[in-house]
Amino acid sequence: MKTNPVQFGQSTVGGDQFMVIAGPCSIENKNQLLDTAQFVKDHKANVLRGGIFKLRTSPKSFQGLGHEAYELVKLAKDNTQLPFISEVTDPRQINDMYDLVDVFQVGSRNMHNYELLKELGKTDKPVLLKRGLAGLVKEWLFAADYITDQGNESVVLCERGIRTFETCTRNTFDINAIAYVKRHSSFPVIADPSHGTGDTHLVEPVSLAAIAAGADGLIVEVHPKPSEAKSDGAQALDFNQFEHLMSKVSQLLPIVNKQL
Ligand code: PEP
Ligand code: MN
Repeated sequence: MKTNPVQFGQSTVGGDQFMVIAGPCSIENKNQLLDTAQFVKDHKANVLRGGIFKLRTSPKSFQGLGHEAYELVKLAKDNTQLPFISEVTDPRQINDMYDLVDVFQVGSRNMHNYELLKELGKTDKPVLLKRGLAGLVKEWLFAADYITDQGNESVVLCERGIRTFETCTRNTFDINAIAYVKRHSSFPVIADPSHGTGDTHLVEPVSLAAIAAGADGLIVEVHPKPSEAKSDGAQALDFNQFEHLMSKVSQLLPIVNKQL
């Protein structure tokens, strides 16, 4: 089916231009965010990611900097001019985050939070809708309709791996889902090989597979020192690994008629 492109700031997702969203899982401090933002910008990322309000499995784990991160995000945006995406975890955050983010991310744990989806459907900002940990593709597409039914057509899907019986990786990246939604829906779809695998060393091969299957973009976690990350260090790319990924991605894209 023909994909309807969506604008994330000045970048388009779903056309000939491939989108790369990169940045830390969680914003931790000024240098971590600014250094990462500059590096990914210099290596052709189109959008900066960074978690502010984190939904962690354990309440004892780092929950994100919250409002403390806002000033850091403004600096990173001023320095790089990149559009910024961050997860909104509660409808009450929408107004508060509105001026800071260019794209609202709905995390896997909230794919079924229909009140959140309906509220995002009333805004004029694009929404990146992640697939639920155990969400069927059909449920994911209905979740997208909750947003568009309120008038906001700017929805991009994100396959981030699902829970299966397999335990050697954090999640099982569902390559079928990418090919399926390209065939059966008009939403752009991007791949999250970071959460999809949970393993730094698997991020590059799974990214390339997702591109071959038709993905319109990638969202990848990058950290200056993954071993010191406060969340998801085991799946973060360091700067060298991100540079290597981008060189492989730019070699593959012409074959699928896309460009960086
Ligand atoms: C994230 O992007 O850091 C995140 C929490 O992702 P997910 O909702 O896919 O687990
Ligand atoms: Mn993460």
